[in-house]
Amino acid sequence: MWRCVSRSLRLASAKGSPIARSGAPKPLLRSFLSTDSAGTYTLVDHTYDAVVVGAGGAGLRAAIGLSEHGFNTACITKLFPTRSHTVAAQGGINAALGNMTEDDWRWHMYDTVKGSDWLGDQDAIQYMCREAPKAVIELENYGLPFSRTEDGKIYQRAFGGQSLNFGKAYRCACAADRTGHALLHTLYGQAMKHNTQFFVEYFALDLLMDDEPKSFSNALTFYSILFIGLLCIGTCRGVIALNMEDGTLHRFRAANTILATGGYGRAYFSATSAHTCTGDGNAMVARAGLPLQDLEFVQFHPTGIYGAGCLITEGNISNDLGEGGILRNSEGERFMERYAPSAKDLASRDVVSRSMTMEIREGRGVGPLKDHIYLHLNHLPPDVLKERLPGISETAEPIPVLPTVHYNMGGIPTNYYGEAIHIKGDDPDTVVPGLMAAGEAACASVHGANRLGANSLLDIVVFGRACANRVAEICKPGEKQKPLENNAGEKTIAWLDKLRNANGSLPTSKIRLNMQRVMQNNAAVFRTQETLEEGCKLIDKAWESFHDVQIRDRSLIWNSDLIETIELENLLINACITMHSAEARKESRGAHAREDFTKRDDENWMKHSLGLVLEDEKVRLDYRPVHMNTLDDEIESFPPKARVY
Ligand SMILES: Cc1cc2nc3c(=O)[nH]c(=O)nc-3n(C[C@H](O)[C@H](O)[C@H](O)COP(=O)(O)OP(=O)(O)OC[C@H]3O[C@@H](n4cnc5c(N)ncnc54)[C@H](O)[C@@H]3O)c2cc1C
Repeated sequence: MWRCVSRSLRLASAKGSPIARSGAPKPLLRSFLSTDSAGTYTLVDHTYDAVVVGAGGAGLRAAIGLSEHGFNTACITKLFPTRSHTVAAQGGINAALGNMTEDDWRWHMYDTVKGSDWLGDQDAIQYMCREAPKAVIELENYGLPFSRTEDGKIYQRAFGGQSLNFGKAYRCACAADRTGHALLHTLYGQAMKHNTQFFVEYFALDLLMDDEPKSFSNALTFYSILFIGLLCIGTCRGVIALNMEDGTLHRFRAANTILATGGYGRAYFSATSAHTCTGDGNAMVARAGLPLQDLEFVQFHPTGIYGAGCLITEGNISNDLGEGGILRNSEGERFMERYAPSAKDLASRDVVSRSMTMEIREGRGVGPLKDHIYLHLNHLPPDVLKERLPGISETAEPIPVLPTVHYNMGGIPTNYYGEAIHIKGDDPDTVVPGLMAAGEAACASVHGANRLGANSLLDIVVFGRACANRVAEICKPGEKQKPLENNAGEKTIAWLDKLRNANGSLPTSKIRLNMQRVMQNNAAVFRTQETLEEGCKLIDKAWESFHDVQIRDRSLIWNSDLIETIELENLLINACITMHSAEARKESRGAHAREDFTKRDDENWMKHSLGLVLEDEKVRLDYRPVHMNTLDDEIESFPPKARVY
């Protein structure tokens, strides 16, 4: 049985937008819902101008902007906002402020295009780098306690992949090594000030989409989908979420839905990201029949702690190389001098990770198994360590490190306004009405094949803000919305119900471990046709095995068994698209390094991969062109050239 409740809405924002009211939808009665084990589902309806899913840096920045513009905004988050993974970022945020040396956003743009290995969209990169100084000053005005130079300016450190006309660039603004922590708390404070309505510990399950027939870029995809008779893409009308505290289900109707759900590092066995980084938003998009872009590009951080996977202690040392850390092999050699003669340990992360892997493979790793590398910080003066890397100031011994999954370049394809896009007919940039994405969940694509350190905190604030600005351009607060279709969310509830009552033979943890091992072994730093083909078979099998999942807890209240199982399915979707996209891409570019196709192949592969998941649980691939154009004549686009450091 269903009980349908229409909740009255909070008051409109201070700017006086009209109060929207949700019409009470008719109860949805479906006999297939087996609720014997835990009684009824309660469905609560809400209406907002905008709903943001995620309260990390990207979600909070979007929510602040929307509320500032007078939109009645809900922010749904499965974690308490300040526990989002953004809190772990320590290195800092890039912007050509020019506080340490002369700097220019155009140099920053060049570094980012080069870092992306020419897979980044240059219009989006221009937008981000040009907006960067404004975004950082805005954070300063919000109260972010940046580290300072002697004369009171924001301190900026050197960071991997950043240059000033080939010299070392001091472009990374930071708050000691707690930048993400400071940023997240500052933004949360601002969001509270602006009256964003938070729904904390609500787990978003699916998008609510109006169905409309969609068109496809090629006949094969069209017919295969027609044959299966599914998938229609229309307008996004909001999301359906589960309140984990009391088990109620909530339909959030909104003219604009912004997904800011972060990355999916946990598809791998060894990852620096939090256990909550499970790519939920990506999977919601895939389940809605929309594509995910460039998932094969997964960044490995050179300095994950050997054994633990995480970066040092609870914190991270992504800035250690920036502050003068040196990597040495078993012979004590500073081997980066051989691989990247000018940038050395400050070369970009994919280059450093691959060089470390080469050293280990050639028998120059350290430790009894010669399977890791030492990071030396002990030559740095204690006062520098204390000031710049306070979390690790007591480290006198070299630190054992290993490349570890750290960032997902791919995600929900968007334009530089943050609007989600897909291919329709001949148009590879068709906007999905009502749907936006920002942060690590999105692929704007500013990072292309490889993200530069400290460009992600920038990405989340710039594109979180861009989403809010775009909504303000195309909508008005309090605009009338179409009522939700009566059966909106019905499929999702049936799916949830089925999972909750799943009675197979495989515990969630077993399927998850299998998936993580497959990803770690078969979609690693170095890839070959053989490992990837095998990976495709194994990961498809892992997904198949999900049908045999077993859940023991049938309740709806704080059911971590159920939540982890939903997260697992979300991870599997991300993992499958990652593996298949990687297998298909026959070149080496950025983080996608193939031993059998060692060169970048611009002629055939300078294009974004799009991975679609169909209801037969098979991945279908498609491609869209890279934007080589810039926004205006303030700068010309950078033509492709070899990427050397
Ligand atoms: C250890 C570490 C150090 C890093 N250091 C740096 C650095 O120094 N500089 C830099 O630029 N980048 C750094 N990065 C990368 C950067 O921190 C992240 O890419 C960025 O913070 C992601 O922000 P986000 O807002 O997109 O997602 P997150 O901060 O991961 O937030 C995701 C949000 O989505 C919510 N959510 C997810 N799924 C659901 C769901 N189903 N329902 C409801 N809510 C949901 C969560 O509750 C959370 O609030 C680092 C990353 C790691 C892991």
